Amino acid sequence: MVREQLVPRGITDPRVLEAMGAVPRNVFVEDALQSQAYGDFPLPIGEGQTISQPYIVALMTQALQLKGHEKVLEIGTGCGYQSAILAHLCEKVYTVERIKNLHIKARRIFDRLTLLNIVCKIDDGTLGWPEYAPYDAIIVTAAGPHIPLPLLDQLADPGRLVIPVGDRISQDLLAVEKIDGVIARTCIEKVRFVSLIGNEGWGS
Ligand code: SAH
Repeated sequence: MVREQLVPRGITDPRVLEAMGAVPRNVFVEDALQSQAYGDFPLPIGEGQTISQPYIVALMTQALQLKGHEKVLEIGTGCGYQSAILAHLCEKVYTVERIKNLHIKARRIFDRLTLLNIVCKIDDGTLGWPEYAPYDAIIVTAAGPHIPLPLLDQLADPGRLVIPVGDRISQDLLAVEKIDGVIARTCIEKVRFVSLIGNEGWGS
């Protein structure tokens, strides 16, 4: 997966490549899909949601430029795969999921893999997680119509945020940087994500 899907497409951060090689993706995928766990595509994880293609997970993670000391907020825990990758690359991961079943399953896997630096909760992640703000990096793994304001507020300065923004069919994957109070955004890829549903996302 690392050699064939990530390196040829420009994933160069050695720490990201190492984490992608270390986290067992199959553990996060249901039994019937085990043979496809490392395939070059997204997979269903139940509740109408998906685990992203490995390349997209690596691209979003690389865009955060993590060095190891950071506090990271993730919106959309899903099956927990992205959270596990982040847990290898920063000090602490705070992850929010709106669907109870997915939250429970992910938490079980974090325990099983003894990923002790992940804390998770069920909530509307478009409101962030104010209690532990500010975050050095924020990653949103579902697509919304705009960047939720609470997330920009809860981003540290300097800080980086990655989020897919667009309509419900296709989006721009934005890398957002806050420096000295100024927000700059760059589109790094055209993507297709499941919808971010909540107060600062889509209605339902
Ligand atoms: N990072 C996940 C991706 C899961 S798909 C993984 O590695 O599997 C995106 C997830 O975002 C879905 O589980 C969906 O339920 C969740 N989601 C959508 N809107 C949300 C919101 N407002 N708050 C928290 N989670 C949300």
